[in-house]
Amino acid sequence: MAHDTVFDMILAKKIPADVVHEDEWVLAFRDIIPQAPVHVIVIPKKKVGRFAEFASAGTADVGEFFKRVAIVAQKLKLDAKGYRIVVNNGGDAGQTVEYLHAHILGGRGLGWPPG
Ligand code: AMP
Repeated sequence: MAHDTVFDMILAKKIPADVVHEDEWVLAFRDIIPQAPVHVIVIPKKKVGRFAEFASAGTADVGEFFKRVAIVAQKLKLDAKGYRIVVNNGGDAGQTVEYLHAHILGGRGLGWPPG
C-alpha cells in the first residue's frame, strides 16, 4: 500500500488545513506556502497519485474533478480577473506530493512562461 502523503492526512483530518470548499468529489484548501494572493490546492477524494493516472481513470472521475476546480475558482471570485490552474506531474514538473492536486493561482498578474 502506498504511504500516506500530507494530503491523505489533511483529507483524513489528521492535520489541519484552511478548507475553502468540500463536496462529495473534492477537498480544497489554501496552500501553506502561497505563491500568489490566492493559492488553493484541490484534491480528489478518490485518491489518484498523479495526473498521468487520469489516462486510465473513469471519465466521471476526471470530469467531476475539473468541474469542481472551476467551481472552487468561481467561489474564490477569480473568474472576472482570471486565474491559472497548475497540475505538476512527476519529478521534472516539481511534483512534491504524490497525491494528484490542482493548484488554483490568482489575485495578481502571473508571468509566462513558467519556470
Ligand atoms: P506540488 O509541488 O505540485 O506537489 O505542490 C505541493 C504543494 O503542497 C506545495 O505548493 C506546498 O506548499 C503545498 N503543501 C505542502 N504541505 C501542505 C499543507 N500541510 N497544507 C497546505 N499545503 C501544503
